[in-house]
Amino acid sequence: MIIESINPATEEIIARFTPTSSEDIDSAIKRAKQAQKQWQDKTKSERISILMNIKENIIKHKKEIAAAVNEECGFDLNETEDGILDIIDGFDYYIDIYKKKNNIDFPIDKDVFPESDAEIRFYPLGVIAQIGIWNYPFWQTMITVIPALLTGNAILYKPSEHSTKVGLLIADIINNSKDMPKDIFIPIIGGAEQGSYLIKSDVDAIVYTGNIKTGHEIIKNAGIKPLILELSGNDSAIICSDCDIDQTLAGVISGAFLHSGEVCDRIKRIYIVKDIAEKFLERAIEKIKALNEQITPLISADALQKVDNQIKKTIEDGAELLIGGKRINKKGFYYEPTLLKLKHNDVESVKNEIFGPVVSLLVVEDENKAMKYANSIRYGLGTSIWTQNFEKAKKIADKAESGMVWINDSNIPLICGEYFQGWKSTSIPNASDRLSMFLKKKCIISFNSDEKRDWWN
Ligand code: NAD
Repeated sequence: MIIESINPATEEIIARFTPTSSEDIDSAIKRAKQAQKQWQDKTKSERISILMNIKENIIKHKKEIAAAVNEECGFDLNETEDGILDIIDGFDYYIDIYKKKNNIDFPIDKDVFPESDAEIRFYPLGVIAQIGIWNYPFWQTMITVIPALLTGNAILYKPSEHSTKVGLLIADIINNSKDMPKDIFIPIIGGAEQGSYLIKSDVDAIVYTGNIKTGHEIIKNAGIKPLILELSGNDSAIICSDCDIDQTLAGVISGAFLHSGEVCDRIKRIYIVKDIAEKFLERAIEKIKALNEQITPLISADALQKVDNQIKKTIEDGAELLIGGKRINKKGFYYEPTLLKLKHNDVESVKNEIFGPVVSLLVVEDENKAMKYANSIRYGLGTSIWTQNFEKAKKIADKAESGMVWINDSNIPLICGEYFQGWKSTSIPNASDRLSMFLKKKCIISFNSDEKRDWWN
């Protein structure tokens, strides 16, 4: 099946691509395996110098990348350019920590093990299948590419079928960088079929970013190999009665409707303490109304339909529609910014992430109840806490069952995705820092003697 690239703002087809055949995927894996050995054998400084060339090439093509992301995925130009700048800084960040990443001499009890020593050495995982995503397609791709290439891995990169053009541009920029060897970064074109074929193949590890349903399929199909999975989120905002109402309104509404809600760690659920709920709601509706002009398109007609179905299901389950709730009547996959006031916590929008411009709000008795509801789901990406009592905020942060917590803020990542992982069913991160994610360790224990151990026969 031909892959069609569609501009979500105009619904026009902008490019058509033929998917990579199974034979070509097999051949790409063989070539990558060969090439990876030589890549791994290069010195640290040789690889660093090539990564710096990739960085330079990205700087050269910055505008082109942002324009491609805007055209194919509907993302705002300025926001994309900020993401590119973060990646550019990310090269320096990962290179700096890679320079300091050395083998470890591990202490050994010399009384029990005389003449012995132990060393931990680090090696690349090998050939990685990277199954890409279309939201922030450049940023999401590069937060894996930089640490994975630096540490000596090769990558078979399948961009999402919704961002093939961006994916091929990334591959061109990387592969046309000075001194970049062949077959270390190979693009694979396709959708679920090619992704599924790739993860069942003889690759050494899988990096997947996407929804939890596909995550389950990957776990079922991949066999036993390192899996790095970054899956769905359903982040909550806990609004305490002692928050600064102006700050909270601005921060929460912006954090909920960022890029029309197509953001894994945006605010999707609001739990607000009853004392300030009325004041917040009135002004929130006004603010959301004013967003209509800024709303960006959803990625596809299917995504738009899915959002609409989930909103309807949430209302059936027990919610009142306060604003929004339908497609915007113009060309492009636009949906109205929507606010749902929940009657209870057992509804579709709590159980399953809605990847669109929708936020659900539940009024609660107190902060303890808010925390209980926030933690009640299978996802664990982020939590934001809104209060001017910073001591209390830190205590609530401690109880949040999520990998990211923001106090009076939301959505902000550390440089180049560092430590950006969820808890529970949101992530299988493999290691906590991103450089270590793409390394495996070898533990070497050596008895430096011609003696026998005491307990040997
Ligand atoms: P999706 O699973 O439909 O697609 C993602 C990628 O997986 C695509 O490249 C697709 O071709 C491929 N794919 C689909 N089925 C496959 C299969 N069976 N085997 C192998 N590959 C397959 O994902 P989506 O629904 O478009 O993504 C949106 C989701 O991504 C949201 O839930 C969002 O929260 C999540 N996300 C998470 C993070 C994070 O860091 N946790 C970041 C961005 C997006």
